[in-house]
Amino acid sequence: NSGSTVKDVAEYLGVPVPDVIKQLMSMGVLATLTKTLADEQIEIVAEALGKKMTIVHLGDEAEEEFEYDDADEDLVERPPVVTIMGHVDHGKTSLLDAVRSTEVAAGEAGGITQHIGAYQVHHNGKTITFLDTPGHQAFTAMRARGARVTDIAVIVVAADDGARPQTDEAIDHAHAADVPIVVAVNKIDKEGADPTRVRTELTQRGLQPSEWGGETEYVDVSAKTHQNLEELLDTLLVVAELEELEANPNAEASGVVIESKLDPGRGPVVTVLIQRGTMRIGDALVAGAEPGRVRAMIDYRGERVQQAVPGDPVEVLGFDGVPDAGEVVRVVANDREARRLAQERETREKAESLARRAGRKVSFEDVFR
Ligand code: GDP
Ligand code: MG
Repeated sequence: NSGSTVKDVAEYLGVPVPDVIKQLMSMGVLATLTKTLADEQIEIVAEALGKKMTIVHLGDEAEEEFEYDDADEDLVERPPVVTIMGHVDHGKTSLLDAVRSTEVAAGEAGGITQHIGAYQVHHNGKTITFLDTPGHQAFTAMRARGARVTDIAVIVVAADDGARPQTDEAIDHAHAADVPIVVAVNKIDKEGADPTRVRTELTQRGLQPSEWGGETEYVDVSAKTHQNLEELLDTLLVVAELEELEANPNAEASGVVIESKLDPGRGPVVTVLIQRGTMRIGDALVAGAEPGRVRAMIDYRGERVQQAVPGDPVEVLGFDGVPDAGEVVRVVANDREARRLAQERETREKAESLARRAGRKVSFEDVFR
């Protein structure tokens, strides 16, 4: 038994409670507001009230997945998307800043001032995209809806502190997402730094260094003195190469929301990581229950751009509302289609939240088909 009451069902179907009770009475069931109904009863009531409803129990949380079947010849190499995780104070922010500054030093980006939740660096003729959002958040929020954002996880471990609880959490997140790990042993400039101890501790956690015959790449770095940052970037490109990261740029764009906010002047500002296709000004799009139309795109350097391709993070202006981080963004044929999909999603969410309260799980496709 599902545990749904008469009240739940009425709310679920969007009909007055007395209608449900009357319907039940006509079926010979004497019901009160809080009476728990059997699935079959709910289905019959729904049908009698003109609403088709199928109840399905799922073991796992429903996930929305978008799989595209691109032909091999349409696929081109795309930048790896890297997330930095690790224990508090081990140097995540410092390392992100240090890596970003190599780009400024190389004169690639005339002074990066913009914070849009991600940035890119160019190294040996290739591009690497770094997510500049708290790493664990990137993993949890984004994975909640089945979106895979990160290709490589950099786990920062301070050489003077070693593996700590959030180091383990970071390893768990990366494993759960099936993402390769690169260990950045940070703060090697500090007195008392012991990079070998870090390797030993992490070997005990299953991350055996390649130099010890294992499969995990370690790079000793200092976010403070910028020692070995190039080596870190080299290593990320090597790991990326093995992953064979590709995407079709010649398709309607899709991607994931990595940050969003409501700006008093500009309205909803949504940073999107493009994962497939090319996004252009004027495209109609939808993210979760929010439709929109691309009015402007701004890159991580703060410059307006006309288009964005796989691996690019861009701030998108033109959404009607503010979709959550982790939502899938899709360009669709036109505004009407965008609004229709957004509306569909809203309906689904209402049904889901009600179903959740009633202590059951339904898949997206199973409500109001
Ligand atoms: P987060 O909490 O992981 O983001 O760590 P932060 O980047 O905020 O760094 C925590 C502290 O460690 C700050 O005081 C940094 O200045 C310092 N720090 C970070 N990286 C290094 C490093 O490579 N060497 C030294 N000596 N200090 C560092
Ligand atoms: Mg930080």
